[in-house]
Amino acid sequence: MKRDPGCIFCKIVAGEIPSLRIYEDDSVFAFLDIGPLADGHLLVIPKEHHERMDSASPDLIAAVARTLPMLSKAVMSAVGVDACNILLNVGRTAGQEVLHMHFHIIPRTSGDGLGYRWMAKKYPAGRADEVASRLRAALESDN
Ligand code: AMP
Ligand code: ZN
Repeated sequence: MKRDPGCIFCKIVAGEIPSLRIYEDDSVFAFLDIGPLADGHLLVIPKEHHERMDSASPDLIAAVARTLPMLSKAVMSAVGVDACNILLNVGRTAGQEVLHMHFHIIPRTSGDGLGYRWMAKKYPAGRADEVASRLRAALESDN
């Protein structure tokens, strides 16, 4: 299994630095975030080292994602809420600080002050069609 000796999450998986482990299976590890946005804030990672979600294999991402319904239900039940955000930052510009891909499960309560600055804009005329064409072309050249 690929690991990076300098990676803090690889060290957590290997038990070389402590964590509050909540779940693990052959390819997935979940533990409490040390700097929680809310009680129960959980990190769910592949055991294998992949810097970013888009450098991991679809099968590995699927193995991690398969655990999200179970783990998010457990988080919400444990902290007594009925809502959560599941967040995955891809790349430093998007806020990814630890370069070992991970999902966040963040419990939400009304008035918790968390949330995304959802600054929705409108496409100017013609722009959406142009962007959609570029996306389709990118998919075709990648596959
Ligand atoms: P991100 O900004 O998406 O890369 O998130 C990294 C997360 O890892 C942050 O929420 C940190 O609080 C968390 N984190 C960093 N070091 C540790 C650690 N040793 N144990 C648990 N969580 C950690
Ligand atoms: Zn790692």
